[in-house]
Amino acid sequence: MSINIISIARLAWAAALFCLVLISQFVHADEKSDMERLNVIQTVSDRDNKEGLRQLQEFKSKLSAETSDVVRLETLKVLVSLYYDAGQIRSADATITEFLQFAEEHHNKDAVALAQISKSFQILDEGKPELAIVKLKEVQASVKDSKDPEVNMRLNSAFGVMYTVSGKFEQALTHYLEALRLSDLQPRRKVQARLYKLDAIASLYYNMKDPEKALATAKEAVALSPLANAPKTMSSLIMTQGIALSNLGREDEALEAYKKALKIGIDANMPGVEATALNNICDHYLISKDYRKAEIFARQAISKAETIGEKSAVVTPKINLGFSLIGQGKIKEGVEYVNAGIKFYRDANSKLDVESITGELAGMYEKAGLYKEALVTLREQQKLSDELFRSDRAIAVAGLQEKFNADQRQKQIELLAKENDLKDADIKNRRLQQVVTLLGAVVTVMAGAFIFLLYRRVRKVNEQLQQVNTQLEFHAVRDPLTGLHNRRSFVELMKSRVALAEAERREDSGDNPDCLILMDIDMFKHINDTWGHAVGDTVLTEVAARLKSTVRDTDMVLRWGGEEFLIYSPKSNPQQITRLVDRVLRAIGEVPIQAGTLQIPVTVTAGFISLPFSGVPEGLCSWEKTLQMADMALYLGKAHGRNRAYGLAKLLVPHEQAMPVLDNDLSAAISGGMIELIEVIGPVQTKKSASDIAGK
Ligand code: GH3
Ligand code: MG
Ligand code: MG
Repeated sequence: MSINIISIARLAWAAALFCLVLISQFVHADEKSDMERLNVIQTVSDRDNKEGLRQLQEFKSKLSAETSDVVRLETLKVLVSLYYDAGQIRSADATITEFLQFAEEHHNKDAVALAQISKSFQILDEGKPELAIVKLKEVQASVKDSKDPEVNMRLNSAFGVMYTVSGKFEQALTHYLEALRLSDLQPRRKVQARLYKLDAIASLYYNMKDPEKALATAKEAVALSPLANAPKTMSSLIMTQGIALSNLGREDEALEAYKKALKIGIDANMPGVEATALNNICDHYLISKDYRKAEIFARQAISKAETIGEKSAVVTPKINLGFSLIGQGKIKEGVEYVNAGIKFYRDANSKLDVESITGELAGMYEKAGLYKEALVTLREQQKLSDELFRSDRAIAVAGLQEKFNADQRQKQIELLAKENDLKDADIKNRRLQQVVTLLGAVVTVMAGAFIFLLYRRVRKVNEQLQQVNTQLEFHAVRDPLTGLHNRRSFVELMKSRVALAEAERREDSGDNPDCLILMDIDMFKHINDTWGHAVGDTVLTEVAARLKSTVRDTDMVLRWGGEEFLIYSPKSNPQQITRLVDRVLRAIGEVPIQAGTLQIPVTVTAGFISLPFSGVPEGLCSWEKTLQMADMALYLGKAHGRNRAYGLAKLLVPHEQAMPVLDNDLSAAISGGMIELIEVIGPVQTKKSASDIAGK
């Protein structure tokens, strides 16, 4: 079985939840420098957990009696997070207790709530997800007046985890989306917060058996992750991608993803990540029926997991060892390993895990020709699967029935009262009285049934609406025609980018700035006019697909407007970009686009530029301004005959001198020798191009 959020990654989750820290806005000088130091340590830990932990322990040992409460709480919080990352759960738990004690002594309600949320994870680890939800609801009530975005975000995230474990996926999604919204309001590390949420949503989709959406979501997050520069998150996202790919039957790509994650784990000193990646590689070989190799990787994963010293970390690789042994005909020995694992997850009340393992075990029995055992195990799995994927509906139905019963009882009481009234009244004709009563009863019952039907309908529509709303919110960042990111999602991305610390940006931007390539399809109106709007749409969709397959995984392709596209390529060096632009022109122009029986020659014109531009700080030349310059370069390309790209490479004079000219006249800046221009010419057309056809 592959490892997902429900098993080991749960630990990483608790860590992620704890690592977003709050900074009071009224901090004095010492406090400010301490907070900055903590920030730096946390950034170190993003890349090297062991080193981060060492620095933090040293920092903590130097705290004095004068240290402020804010710094002390902050230190403990970060420490919890780093212990979790290192897999040192006992130390993390002890630190949470220390944190809670301190928060209670200092009557800090929000901090107490944060510690209580962590306690709910301990309850979850004891195998009591329902109890953990109760605990979270208590915390929710205790902070219902709190305006603290961190507490609210963490609360929603935690609900998301608990509901996922309990198989209540719709509720989990609703909470995760709320947490995603709140991650933008965090005082710092917004991008990291956003990434964790996207990772959780991707895993959730995977658990909802929707690997396509899981893959798309993980990819979206990977496109954001260069901004966070955090191997920890990156490895988790890549692993999620791998699992989704494996579910889609794209095993080779899945294996590549696991290997990539393994390398990140080794480089960043994260044994937990290494163990998980090794285990998933083993899983790949199990699926490919190469049981000997699977055994090798399972054993490697076990010995790596043993170095963490946590019992739960070795469970999954041991199950996989069992499967690889069964595959090699060592049935008895293998089944023992698998059953021990099933027992572990059953004790932990993790139905999702038990369901998935029994499913795999049934498959192994079948392959080994042990049909009777296969059938028994399959039935068990089916039962669990029904429970998991229907429990939501069952609860909703039960709720409705209860409401219906209560309504019915109320109706009976009303009926009795009416009967009494009727008896009391001096009605002479008893026969008539009976008829009236009976009619009244029939009418009341019918009205009751009608109201019930109406109620059920409204309830169903509401549920559907809620589902559609959650989906809508998620897809608001997508263009419906091409499936690409839309302008809004880019603006959001730029906003979170602005939020990155200046220092971090400066350190990154030197040799490898980000790059923007703006493209506009040539003579597109002519395509619409000649072959109709539907063909135009097909061309747009195909151009989008070609762009996507031309760029790197970490690049982002957007539909900027009608027939304009934008590529955002983080951290690319200038030579690479010229090559990329050349590839883009050829990808679109070399082979005509097929629309039904038509072969339509299509070309694009592009303008490209780096961000920050020519080392000018973004305070002086914003991303909006930079993009506007790319637009001017694009139009220069249109004026020079289309099917080409112009890149603004760098300024040749000080920016104070160049900017005023550049503001309105790019040609003047070029002819005045103020700017270096790169020209990339598109491919020679095999057929007549749209512009030839138009006679332009
Ligand atoms: P140029 O080479 O100068 O860019 O010429 P052009 O014909 O492409 O000129 P322009 O950019 O002004 O034309 C854009 C056209 O794209 C106009 C609009 O009707 C069409 N368009 C915009 N959005 C869509 C869409 O979603 N589908 C289709 N089929 N056409 C669209
Ligand atoms: Mg246009
Ligand atoms: Mg155009």
